[in-house]
Amino acid sequence: MNKSTKIATLVMTVTVFSSMIMTACQSNQTSPTEPSETTKTTAETSQKDKTTPDEKQIQAIRSQFQNATPAHWGEKMPGIISKLPTSEKVIALTFDACGGKHGDGYDAELIQYLQENQIPATLFLNARWIESHPELTKQLANNPLFEIENHGSEHRPLSINGRSVYGIQGTQNLDGIIQEIIVNHRLIEKMTGRAPRFFRAGTAYYDDIAVQVAKQLDEQIAGFHITGDAGATFNQVQVKNAMLQAKPGSIILLHMNQPRGNTAEGIKEAIPLLKKQGYRFVKMDPYIPTQPS
Ligand SMILES: [Zn+2]
Repeated sequence: MNKSTKIATLVMTVTVFSSMIMTACQSNQTSPTEPSETTKTTAETSQKDKTTPDEKQIQAIRSQFQNATPAHWGEKMPGIISKLPTSEKVIALTFDACGGKHGDGYDAELIQYLQENQIPATLFLNARWIESHPELTKQLANNPLFEIENHGSEHRPLSINGRSVYGIQGTQNLDGIIQEIIVNHRLIEKMTGRAPRFFRAGTAYYDDIAVQVAKQLDEQIAGFHITGDAGATFNQVQVKNAMLQAKPGSIILLHMNQPRGNTAEGIKEAIPLLKKQGYRFVKMDPYIPTQPS
């Protein structure tokens, strides 16, 4: 506490370190309502330092990108993380929960398997899914096996000019991009007490402006190295075969919201085989450095 106070005082006087200061001040302000520091792991403590973007940050983004023209559109481009930066034999399983009319399910069998076998995973929850499953969201967030990340507010591809993909309308403008990120960012922070660090858009498509905007909003774009279930449409063998393509650091994209699909069945086959090859499973957060402010 003494150290934080000193840092805060120093910050007031040294404008060069304004962003660092802001982080320290904000964590001080929010700490009284948070759970005891002693109950948190190191990773959780570092995550807690991320705070919801404020109006000043959003205004700065509006000025910076209002007239920006996108040059790229896709699932992979600089600034999108598709692998963990490591040569260790680790794999990040990531599960999207998309929400909406056809995406509101919960694959209890899958999550139960992960829990029984102590397999960590990163869960990308959409705001609509969270609103349908508030208690479940809290339970998952409280389970140290899982980390909760941002799968968007309305599940739209992030476009500054309304591009679509797979028939899904993208965001229409800069404010659309900002809203798609921060509405769910704030919801997750409110529901779980932890601000998300990673964003994955509905469809996982972006233009390069959106990738930069997300970064300015303190979220990094989580892409993928392997599509594990193709929107939960793969059969059991296809899921297994896709997962067996993993390399050290692979991020595998799967779904936890389609219990009628074959994702759980495929995973149950692939995980023991990958373990035999010497792989272990990790959450994204500990492997991705926090971005410089
Ligand atoms: Zn989705």
